[in-house]
Amino acid sequence: MNDQRIIRVAIDGPSGAGKSTLARSAAAELGYLYVDTGAIYRTIGCAARRRGIDPKNAETVAALLPELRVELTYGDDGLQHMALNGEDVTAEIREPEISQYASAVSAHPAVRAYLLEMQRRLARERSVIMDGRDIGTVVLPDAEVKVFLTASAEERARRRMLELEQRGTPQAYEEVLSSIQERDWNDTHRAAAPLRKAEDAVLLDTTALDFAQSEAALLQIIRERAGV
Ligand code: C5P
Repeated sequence: MNDQRIIRVAIDGPSGAGKSTLARSAAAELGYLYVDTGAIYRTIGCAARRRGIDPKNAETVAALLPELRVELTYGDDGLQHMALNGEDVTAEIREPEISQYASAVSAHPAVRAYLLEMQRRLARERSVIMDGRDIGTVVLPDAEVKVFLTASAEERARRRMLELEQRGTPQAYEEVLSSIQERDWNDTHRAAAPLRKAEDAVLLDTTALDFAQSEAALLQIIRERAGV
């Protein structure tokens, strides 16, 4: 309890591996700040969609950045909110179409550079669990704990389908699976900060684990690695 050290936990992995849900819950358990970096890329994707910009075009996306004010705040509910030029876009960035926009804009080095300092700043003041694709490799290479969280593409598609159903935006399994596979390909093949496991990250494969088992495994890794 008197441990004043700042512990930074980096959780990376492919789309739909359960990073956000697990990281949020582990952060609540440990009293750490939870930062969902995918939401930041989604906010840039949202800006591109609103302006009718091709998210794959590096130059037009880079030209858009100086016009954007991207803010991450925590509501009274303790949840992370995203604002784009003063407007709350927390709900909009979860629309399925935004996933592809986020994946496309995140491939541009200008976008990654623009967001790097913002992410690092969030991890300076207090203990955090930050999830994304390049947290252990690029954003927080000195993180005390690094976890690479994954599951098979089929299992991730099944989970995402249930989640979309619960949100009232159902999609067919095949559609969800191909969207996940497309994002996996984009995220692992881009030149700028591709998704990969940091050498010193612990691999956690949740394909055969339910939520409680995954959370217990994650907390055990954090406690062991951070000595908390
Ligand atoms: O995690 P989430 O699915 O919300 O992220 C949306 C997209 O943002 C991902 O498909 C990925 O391309 C990108 N992203 C990234 N680096 C991060 C977090 C997300 O490139 N640290």
